[in-house]
Amino acid sequence: MARVLINEFAVAGKKVKRTYAIYGGLIPPYTMKIGSDKYIMPGWYKLDKDEELPNIEDIGYYPYKPKIDDSLKNIDSNKVYKVTSSKGDKEYQVQLNTSGSLECSCPGYGFRRRCRHITEVQSSL
Ligand SMILES: [Zn+2]
Repeated sequence: MARVLINEFAVAGKKVKRTYAIYGGLIPPYTMKIGSDKYIMPGWYKLDKDEELPNIEDIGYYPYKPKIDDSLKNIDSNKVYKVTSSKGDKEYQVQLNTSGSLECSCPGYGFRRRCRHITEVQSSL
């Protein structure tokens, strides 16, 4: 969801100057007047009665960007990858968890959230 962020600059002897920015969402900023009420959209930020609508170009826009982990794009989410331990006596299972990152069944992963087996699976794809 989009949020409107406000920055206020106090300039000596002048009215406080405000700048606006839209964070998140996928709709670029626009302004709207309903009767005598002025809004910055999306986000329904209502301006003070005596405040002018800002220029659209003056409103910052930081749209939502989904994070894509490139190193995981070849991972088969239904597959359990088996990696043999360094001593060769154990086998660990690496798989994609529900939050979209790899997890391993080895004790090292439980401790550090990171291990050699995950690196191995990623580099083998
Ligand atoms: Zn591991």
